[in-house]
Amino acid sequence: MSLRLHNYGGGIRSHLPASMLAPAGVHQESDGHALHQPVLVLNASYEPINVCAARRAIVLVLKGVAMTEEENGHFLHAARVAMRVPSVIRLLEYRRIPHQSRALSRKNILLRDRNTCQYCSTALASGELTLDHVIPRSRGGLSTWENLVACCHPCNRRKGNQLPHEANMKPSREPRSFNLHTSRHIMRLMGHSDDKWRKYLFY
Ligand SMILES: [Zn+2]
Repeated sequence: MSLRLHNYGGGIRSHLPASMLAPAGVHQESDGHALHQPVLVLNASYEPINVCAARRAIVLVLKGVAMTEEENGHFLHAARVAMRVPSVIRLLEYRRIPHQSRALSRKNILLRDRNTCQYCSTALASGELTLDHVIPRSRGGLSTWENLVACCHPCNRRKGNQLPHEANMKPSREPRSFNLHTSRHIMRLMGHSDDKWRKYLFY
């Protein structure tokens, strides 16, 4: 899971020096896998607001921005201390989360569309998906949340420069911007089998 993908819409990032975005001094080799585990991020109010990689969660805890609410059972060995890897963290200071906070990016579009081709509904690895302009660029379509969808290569070729009704290919779900509502939906999907997350995701 990318660290860049799960930022705080600029809210925290803009307040932190660049050095805080990298896990300086954290020994990564020993628990490489554990550092990539997803961690649920709660606002100070316990409201779930994000998912980030464990590595970033640890940085936030070490810097005193967040505290660990749940641990995932792994230890991280950094310098002379062993630290428990969090599963859920909570920000110490309440952050107002702007509604349309996600950057438009290939990764975020694939995340929104859950790595599923929006035309044939096949779920694929990220590398096997491309982005399709629902209204092709050659027909005036823009690169926006509402006009970009995850698409497999065969569907992308088949649709070509046609409009959806010309190709008789319509996205299975109307593409929307990736707002907090979408994020919550994805957080629930990710955490539905994890008891440590579930108590925060389902009230
Ligand atoms: Zn397809």
